[in-house]
Amino acid sequence: MQGTDRQRLDARIGHGDGWTALRLDGVIDEHNGLAGLTPALGPKTDTLLLDLGGVRRINSVGVRDWVVWLKSQRERYRHVVLFDCPPAIMNEVNLVRNFAEGALITTFRAPYYCDRCGQESVQTLDAPAMIAQDVRKAPPFPCGKPACANALDDAEETYFAFFDDQRDLARPANLDALVAAAREALAAASTVTHASAPIVEKPLDLRAAEARLAMASVPTGAPVPGDGQRPGRQDPVFIAILVVMLGILGVLVYLIATLE
Ligand SMILES: [Zn+2]
Repeated sequence: MQGTDRQRLDARIGHGDGWTALRLDGVIDEHNGLAGLTPALGPKTDTLLLDLGGVRRINSVGVRDWVVWLKSQRERYRHVVLFDCPPAIMNEVNLVRNFAEGALITTFRAPYYCDRCGQESVQTLDAPAMIAQDVRKAPPFPCGKPACANALDDAEETYFAFFDDQRDLARPANLDALVAAAREALAAASTVTHASAPIVEKPLDLRAAEARLAMASVPTGAPVPGDGQRPGRQDPVFIAILVVMLGILGVLVYLIATLE
């Protein structure tokens, strides 16, 4: 029952000359384990490249932890670069003022919808290129059908609002090459256990405490206040009742047998 449906955030780490890369896959929620990832990143380098392409969802606790964690990374690295940011991340970037503060966003993804054929898709856009050309219009991605109406499934002024905060950020010299190298390293990397470790640790401690509590209550059979419906506590009580019933049954059988 416990632990089977818990969301997980997996991480992969890559290294190169002067840079560190980290890919996150999954859900950033209260089990994110982000703080535990920092030591796994290894010695400090010049640039931290974060591949967020695998982030499916982020909740309010996740946003709070992310902001704290990102701030600590910005203090460690001269440049922090985010790439392949999915819509779930971009919504927070545009909503929460300091969500990506001081971090350079390169590629990001945008939801598209074609009014003509009903096709939904997610397209990858290039923030630095759009900012350099001073473009705030979603580029076309024709669906291939005649009179295509495929367009950004969001308000352009909202979705591209983060451009304002990106203009003044210092960029690493060879940004495109760095992102390409990070992609390659992350594709070859295997999942690190550090991200998920805190997720398992807490519930295990909790379960051990629960087991101790259940064991402590067995001799007296006294109910633990407020713990009536915890599964597993019913078993000793049930066995005790069964033993008493069997005892009564034995006495009855003895009485019947002696009466004859
Ligand atoms: Zn279409």
